[in-house]
Amino acid sequence: MRLVFLGPPGAGKGTQARELAHAGGVAHVATGDILREALAAGTSLGLEAKRYMDRGALVPDDVIIDLMRERLAAPDAAQGFIVDGFPRTIAQAEALAGLLKDAGQALDRVIYFEVSERELLRRLTGRRICRRCQTVYHLVSAPPRTPGVCDRCGAELYQRDDDGEATVRNRLEVFARQTAPLLAYYHQRGLLATVSGEGSVEAVRAAIRAAVGAER
Ligand code: ADP
Ligand code: AMP
Repeated sequence: MRLVFLGPPGAGKGTQARELAHAGGVAHVATGDILREALAAGTSLGLEAKRYMDRGALVPDDVIIDLMRERLAAPDAAQGFIVDGFPRTIAQAEALAGLLKDAGQALDRVIYFEVSERELLRRLTGRRICRRCQTVYHLVSAPPRTPGVCDRCGAELYQRDDDGEATVRNRLEVFARQTAPLLAYYHQRGLLATVSGEGSVEAVRAAIRAAVGAER
């Protein structure tokens, strides 16, 4: 199973990718998580990425492509992966195709999560994340049992700096301008499957499983 989860910020890609990758025994590769971990560790990659992430802009293609070349070559990605948040530009998609070709691999499907802008704003502004294990919550739709505390590991929940309304609006515009062209790109290659991302977490999961033929 080699899948790409494509969709605007807040569409639910991370929520679904985490569960499905775990269930399928494949790697969950989220470029945003990798960049935030690099920033928390204070690496030069993290500090460079922060300049773009704070504004809701995309980190330059060459930086992301180098990072993914290394990440997808790691042993845990050899049996399969779900990539979430990459590619975000045509140049990244071309680079991914090249990396996979060199490894004698190919994508099975690209799943596009369709969600209205109103719901994206609601989801992003209510999102809370565990500092330690990165589990994702929502103040209304997926609240933790104890406010501010992760159900899984007990660590503190935080709001991402880029989940404030002004940055969120910029991120949605960046998606429309720079990432949405990937829909036609993958459609032309026969890889695109569109699911409604508006339903419950369980309903969306079932739609993805049906789209990848994993319901059997
Ligand atoms: P993405 O990875 O696409 O940016 P996330 O998976 O982080 O999106 O989800 C964004 C927010 O929406 C989180 O707060 C999450 O708990 C919530 N969420 C995810 N899927 C759903 C859903 N199907 N219904 C309601 N809220 C959801
Ligand atoms: P995400 O966690 O996917 O919402 O990503 C958070 C931020 O990380 C984005 O707003 C970008 O600044 C940066 N980022 C993540 N993935 C990519 C990518 N594939 N290309 C460029 N920038 C990225």
